[in-house]
Amino acid sequence: MAEVLVYVDHVDGAVRKPTLELLTLARRIGEPVAVALGAGAESTAAALAEHGATRVLTHDASEYADYLVVPKVDALQAAVAAVSPAAVLVPSSAEGKEIAARLALRIGSGIITDAVDLEAGDEGPVATQSVFAASFSTKSRVSKGTPVITVKPNSAAVEAAPAAGAVEALAVTFSAQATGTKITGRTPRESTGRPELTEAAIVVSGGRGVNGAENFGLIEALADSLGAAVGASRAAVDAGWYPHTNQVGQTGKSVSPQLYIANGISGAIQHRAGMQTSKTIVAVNKDAEAPIFDLVDYGVVGDLFDVVPQLTEEIKTR
Ligand code: FAD
Repeated sequence: MAEVLVYVDHVDGAVRKPTLELLTLARRIGEPVAVALGAGAESTAAALAEHGATRVLTHDASEYADYLVVPKVDALQAAVAAVSPAAVLVPSSAEGKEIAARLALRIGSGIITDAVDLEAGDEGPVATQSVFAASFSTKSRVSKGTPVITVKPNSAAVEAAPAAGAVEALAVTFSAQATGTKITGRTPRESTGRPELTEAAIVVSGGRGVNGAENFGLIEALADSLGAAVGASRAAVDAGWYPHTNQVGQTGKSVSPQLYIANGISGAIQHRAGMQTSKTIVAVNKDAEAPIFDLVDYGVVGDLFDVVPQLTEEIKTR
């Protein structure tokens, strides 16, 4: 069976969920071979093996932490040369997409970004994308070279599938460009204790209807009762009520959670572009004609200041 390279997104050896989702998808098209780089790379092996990685190629060097993405591209290129995989899968984070684009250029391959599903095809893996503000689903495959595919978080369930996960050292020679852009400092964002917006299984968002930064506490309380991330519409962000890092939409983040709860959000096309692939969509809006109700699975016509606290209390009792 052909091997499929999976780029491992991890923090000091702790594998992030989107990578485990990639392993589920990789198993549909071949045998997953994981590539883990940087500090803690070897410690990723146990989790990767539990989720189907037959081999884990590792390489640690200070360049991965000290410079922007090129060292990682060098390493993935070396892995492609060593394995001749049927495809390379990379999580669709901002960094993942940059790595994937640079890799595809290096190896002369086609690339598909932001896939939401993946299946085996007669002529190579077939990726599903959600395009034009999620108005259409397209299926496509790469017709040139080794397919490089980035996959959005929450596109597949994480499934345990024990495999060998044999750790092997990857031989990497860094290119001249590897040390071209040095990272001069890192400022960790203050942790809210909530899941990362793009990876969260549940997202609770607030829009202009929340009517002030001080009222976002209601949205956060509902989010916390569900273990969810908090999102915001651009109107709420532009008003300074919530940080831009939490904006969902065309000029914000794209999310695809199991459950998306929109509160006081009208459902403008630019907002829909960032959340329409959510599996279940719930909206609370006092205007029964709001466009958001065209795409919801469940809609509550009502004042969010009445509905949201009641919902939070009810969830807390369960
Ligand atoms: P509104 O459209 O004003 O809707 C507020 C809603 O709240 C209304 O439906 C109202 O009925 C409801 N409401 C009011 N009070 C209550 C209450 N008490 N209880 C319940 N409901 C209530 N927008 C994004 O969100 N993300 C983007 O990334 C983005 N990118 C953009 C890019 C471009 C190039 C452009 C031109 C626009 C972009 N926008 C984006 C803006 C977008 O067009 C909308 O203006 C924005 O999404 C509106 O935000 P909203 O739904 O919160 O506000």
